[in-house]
Amino acid sequence: MQYQSKLPHVGTTIFSVMSALAQEHNAINLSQGFPNFKSDSKLIYMVSKAMNSGFNQYAPMPGSFDLRTVISEKFENLYNSSYHPESEITVTAGATQAIFTVISTFISKGDEVIYFSPAYDCYEPAITLHQGIPKAIQLQSPNYAIDWNLVKSEVTSKTKMIIINTPHNPTGSILNATDLLALQDLTNGTDIIVLSDEVYEHIVFDNAQHQSACLFPELKKRTFITASFGKTFHNTGWKIGYCCGPSELMSEFRKVHQFNVFSVHHPTQVALAEYLQTPSNYTELNAFFQQKRDLFIKLIEGSKFTFTPSKGSYFQLLNYKAITDENDVEFAKQLTINNKLASIPMSVFNSNNQDDKMLRFCFAKTEDTLKQAADILQNI
Ligand code: PMP
Ligand code: GLN
Repeated sequence: MQYQSKLPHVGTTIFSVMSALAQEHNAINLSQGFPNFKSDSKLIYMVSKAMNSGFNQYAPMPGSFDLRTVISEKFENLYNSSYHPESEITVTAGATQAIFTVISTFISKGDEVIYFSPAYDCYEPAITLHQGIPKAIQLQSPNYAIDWNLVKSEVTSKTKMIIINTPHNPTGSILNATDLLALQDLTNGTDIIVLSDEVYEHIVFDNAQHQSACLFPELKKRTFITASFGKTFHNTGWKIGYCCGPSELMSEFRKVHQFNVFSVHHPTQVALAEYLQTPSNYTELNAFFQQKRDLFIKLIEGSKFTFTPSKGSYFQLLNYKAITDENDVEFAKQLTINNKLASIPMSVFNSNNQDDKMLRFCFAKTEDTLKQAADILQNI
């Protein structure tokens, strides 16, 4: 059959590749980002309760109203920022669908989208599929700081969207208030839409405050925020998230959303609406993951790997320059096959495939797993 691929340069995602390799070689899997511990049994009970209570038919297209209401309350409580549950919040099939739908709604042929590289892998293909022009700005280790003057110089009359991600996957860096203010200034008076991917909003370390785009009133007016319950409540397989944005923009978003998925898993939404009524279920996450980050970096101290501690997300980058100059894809494979520890090579997140001899490790794992992984790293 003759056909033209719309994504000729795209293969299977590195997450699937490395997880499959880990499974094949019976390796500890710190590659794909998911916890290896259970979600709260109270939440699981609430899902089965919702199923048994009959919430088994289509949810309303924008999501369960009760869930949208508690999401709105969460924004009020955490950021003193208001999103109307009726018109400004939509429940999605994970953040991935929210991101795809934002891009699908607004990006057409020739529209330029600025994003920062290394980048989470779902932004670029979504832009390309809609015949937009991805414009990656490469950030450099160890801080991965954004040079906003450089960003300014990349903005043209065709710039339709800027994508940010804080806390950042894969680097573990976070944006500070100065960054968000710079973005606010830069976009003021333009028609640029901002997509702020904040799936790790509850995983920020060392008492830093998450700088949500909604904290900046002018920026908020042009911004979609995407979030993931999978990341927050340790159940990445449930694929439930949400998207918030100003009502005018959200009404365009919903035009696409309704034909994309229409609505998402109803009983889980009912359960999440109940579970979110206890804020400590998410406000205690920072401390929970900080303990894991601290343990992991303590355990690898003195090894040949060097690092800057992650500031947010559940990923830690490790530099292996002192061990070999092998390329990172090859080194990650060898580490999985020979040493039985899987990670993600960083170059795959770089739009220019720049190889900084860095691997990404997911520390959303039990203490036992982290100890076993650290033992392996200490012996390399
Ligand atoms: N954005 C980032 C930065 C991510 O790390 C992920 C992976 N969880 C997503 C979006 C997608 O989230 P979800 O699994 O809810 O689709
Ligand atoms: N967000 C996860 C990660 O960064 C993976 C999600 C996926 O496998 N698509 O590892």
